[in-house]
Amino acid sequence: MNAAASGSDGLPPLRDVIARYELAAKKSLGQNFLLDLNLTRKIARAAGDLSKQTVVEIGPGPGGLTRALLMEGAKRIIAVERDERCLPALDEISAHYPGCLTVEAGDALKVDWTRLTDGAHPVTIAANLPYNIASVLLVTWLETEPWPPWFDRMVLMFQREVAERITAQPHTKAYGRLSVLAQWRTRPHIVINLPPEAFTPPPKVASAVVDFRPMPTPEPACRAATLSRVTAAAFGQRRKMLRSSLKQLMPLPELLLREAGIAPERRAEDLSVTEFATLAAILDRAPHNRG
Ligand code: SAM
Repeated sequence: MNAAASGSDGLPPLRDVIARYELAAKKSLGQNFLLDLNLTRKIARAAGDLSKQTVVEIGPGPGGLTRALLMEGAKRIIAVERDERCLPALDEISAHYPGCLTVEAGDALKVDWTRLTDGAHPVTIAANLPYNIASVLLVTWLETEPWPPWFDRMVLMFQREVAERITAQPHTKAYGRLSVLAQWRTRPHIVINLPPEAFTPPPKVASAVVDFRPMPTPEPACRAATLSRVTAAAFGQRRKMLRSSLKQLMPLPELLLREAGIAPERRAEDLSVTEFATLAAILDRAPHNRG
């Protein structure tokens, strides 16, 4: 039986690694580590067959999920980590899996993703995201132009409340900008729920892993930036009727709403993803409507 099949990868237990490199978790970096390799392997398996994938991992930290991805057969991992204290631990993993792990030291918010992945294909983004920047990163990836993007799949951990917003349906409180953008361009669904105790230290809230499969040609076609402007205006005043909330975008929203066949008395929460994208598509075609 090989090391992976036996449940161990031959590297020291994560608790020992954390103690040896003094990796006390920093709240400012959203550090809630996953130390149970069975759990991280379950997350890695949720990303499907990794044997032909280049995996982009954000925030490998001491390497719990990284090791699991490698044990599950990831062909290659490119990891971006901001905390330099973690780099020696990640070097050990690189040495154990020669040629499989590249670590980029730096801030994921400043990465040029096409440069980082350099034409690699297929690519899966897999991460236990730092929660303070999780939504910003997600929106950056979802707003990628041109589309289809440089990645083929995303398997990402969020606070459960954010995961529920991403997957929320109309007529619910959780439905909002993230739901519309995510569901217009991908098919997001929650694949694993985790209680706070799964992490060290435990965060205050529960977490969930969301699987996103990009759709090659999201319908109706519009610019992601326009869709984001429309949803920002509509959900910015979600209790108001659209004829009022969309005044942020243009002086006479009724014209736009009529062209889209949407009653001006409706509210953001009641519009489907398709209706939002229809509004954005009309705005893209008719710049005079932009107000
Ligand atoms: N992957 C590890 C695990 O599952 O145990 C750690 C996950 S922890 C929730 C988030 C990680 O993201 C930490 O290692 C933290 O240092 C890193 N991080 C925080 N902000 C970052 C940023 N702006 N760019 C890259 N990494 C960041």
